[in-house]
Amino acid sequence: MYQVPRGTRDFTPDEMQKRRYLEHAMAATFTSFGYGEIQTPTFENLELFTVKSGESIINELYTFTDKGGRALALRPELTAPVIRCYIERLQMEPKPLKLFYFGNCYRYDRPQKGRYREFQQAGCELIGTNTCEATAELLALAYTIVKNTGLKNIRLNIGNLTIISAIFKKLHLLKDDQKILLPLIDKSQFDELHIALGDCNVSEEMIDAFLDVLQTSDISRIRSYIADDITATAELTTMETILYLLKNAFHISEFEIKLSIVRGLDYYKGIVFEIDAPILGAEKQLCGGGSYDLVPLFGGSDVPTSGFAIGFDRTILALEEEGFLFPTIKLDVFIIPVNQDMNATCIEIAQELRSHGISADFDLLQRGMGKSLKYADAKHAEKVIIVGPKELEKKMIVLRDMKTGNQELVSVTGISTKLKKI
Ligand code: AMP
Repeated sequence: MYQVPRGTRDFTPDEMQKRRYLEHAMAATFTSFGYGEIQTPTFENLELFTVKSGESIINELYTFTDKGGRALALRPELTAPVIRCYIERLQMEPKPLKLFYFGNCYRYDRPQKGRYREFQQAGCELIGTNTCEATAELLALAYTIVKNTGLKNIRLNIGNLTIISAIFKKLHLLKDDQKILLPLIDKSQFDELHIALGDCNVSEEMIDAFLDVLQTSDISRIRSYIADDITATAELTTMETILYLLKNAFHISEFEIKLSIVRGLDYYKGIVFEIDAPILGAEKQLCGGGSYDLVPLFGGSDVPTSGFAIGFDRTILALEEEGFLFPTIKLDVFIIPVNQDMNATCIEIAQELRSHGISADFDLLQRGMGKSLKYADAKHAEKVIIVGPKELEKKMIVLRDMKTGNQELVSVTGISTKLKKI
């Protein structure tokens, strides 16, 4: 028997219903913030991903050579493709550009709950502005989208890579050291970080102060720690303005400053943020984003860019864990013939209802009334129409309400109008 490839999934109609529900909810929030949808190809030239992250990224990618000998990769994320598209087609558009997307991503990860080899991301890129208002709006959008899905318990954590870079400079840490330290900071593995900083010849006193600043959300403590660095101090002041706007203009106060949010120094700069759903345990990160530099690297003229990506699959998992009741697929009407001579009339009624935008299905298995009613119930039919010869002689049919079980005789001709009003 064949099975789905490792790390991929099939989605049944019930699961697709949840996914479509979530897509609609997210798209509605993106558009309410003035974003327009964009779609890019599932595969790109491999170089689009290696130019930023180096050849080592290939281990995490699905790569292939096509019949023309081109090196291609299934996209692992959508920021690089969207920026490529921006440079190719949208550079002359009025700024700022607000683009959102949904798309499958492919990573050669070790599959586990919440971590797949094929998964969907919802995300956005904001191109052409990095004012405090713009960054505050981006943070507000990320928070609002996740909140609007119906999730109750989420955490928005905000870090800053310009400040982290300044601290690295202060501690005389080399680029190679940073590569070892960043993943430890990102995973909040502070004991391991302590040892690694010692290995980098950082004094005990400096290590303690650094670990303290990574774990505090108190801005004044951060400020006094970085007081001797003008760039970092200015960045902290900007960050304070952004957070002030987030709280007092966007009225979002459920966030925390966490300098241990680092995400990746070769890509992001300035503000970075993550949204977690603690209910998910190990793979709890729902969303990650920040400001980044990619346009000049891809050959475009420099503009500020920022964005975020939400793990669509994890959002559904988190909603399920929280017991969220997704809307079920409902059928407006199921039509049952009393005998097979009524089949043609059932079809005509179904077609008439469908042409009026009412979803209708009829018994295709020619089974008895009891089984048909059970089937109608399993399909969450709101109404059932029963077509029998005696009633049909008088141009009437039986309309049954599946919730109450009440039945009434109604005229065949007015059925669409009647059901539309309900
Ligand atoms: P990233 O592009 O790595 O910043 O990921 C953005 C979001 O995508 C994460 O916060 C996750 O929610 C989701 N995500 C990343 N990798 C996977 C994966 N392998 N399976 C499912 N979701 C993922």
